[in-house]
Amino acid sequence: MFVQKGLLIVLSGPSGVGKGTVCSQLRKEQSDLVYSVSATTRPPRVGEVNGVNYFFKTREEFEQMIKNNELLEWAEYVGNYYGTPRKFVEDTIQQGKDIILEIEVQGALKVKQTYPEGIFIFLMPPSLAELKNRIIHRGTESDESLIKRMNAAKEELQMMKHYDYAVVNDEVNKAVKRIQSIIEAERLRKERILPYYEQWLKEEL
Ligand code: 5GP
Repeated sequence: MFVQKGLLIVLSGPSGVGKGTVCSQLRKEQSDLVYSVSATTRPPRVGEVNGVNYFFKTREEFEQMIKNNELLEWAEYVGNYYGTPRKFVEDTIQQGKDIILEIEVQGALKVKQTYPEGIFIFLMPPSLAELKNRIIHRGTESDESLIKRMNAAKEELQMMKHYDYAVVNDEVNKAVKRIQSIIEAERLRKERILPYYEQWLKEEL
């Protein structure tokens, strides 16, 4: 039987814009969406679980994954490595399931080179001041890391032009709804429906 490949959805945007919160709310509401768990060398934050939030790795382990070509993309971000395990993503879309990657912008651009047919969604803060507020209130960053993250965020905001969609995260529920409508519309693109239709036409009545 013909199986249409799943959608590869990339949710990206500056640090502190709320990608994590929006993505976990989306996962709760949309159980048919598979989530790609990244590998990182960053130490776990309180409450984070290995294999659920991230696969926590040493720098040596991560560098070995790069050498073995196990990562679909990877980036060094604020002094740590982050990367997407390749096989899980490829298997998921081959099985016809839709997968979402929540990654920063350098990595998103690398995915775009490999999967130009992916759906690239840029999550935006309502303003730069609001972004700074959110990073401060999360309270997990040192002053030095906050400055680095704000500088990175300004550069990251300029990357929006490479994306297919821009979603403002003014309220989590609204942002989630906007992303759900993007996914719904993308599932209905005629290019995805056409192969089924052509198959029907071949079948005898
Ligand atoms: P955090 O340390 O706050 O969890 O993540 C820092 C940044 O790394 C966030 O922007 C997050 O989206 C991004 N990130 C998480 N996983 C990956 C990944 O696999 N690849 C890339 N390129 N970025 C990631």
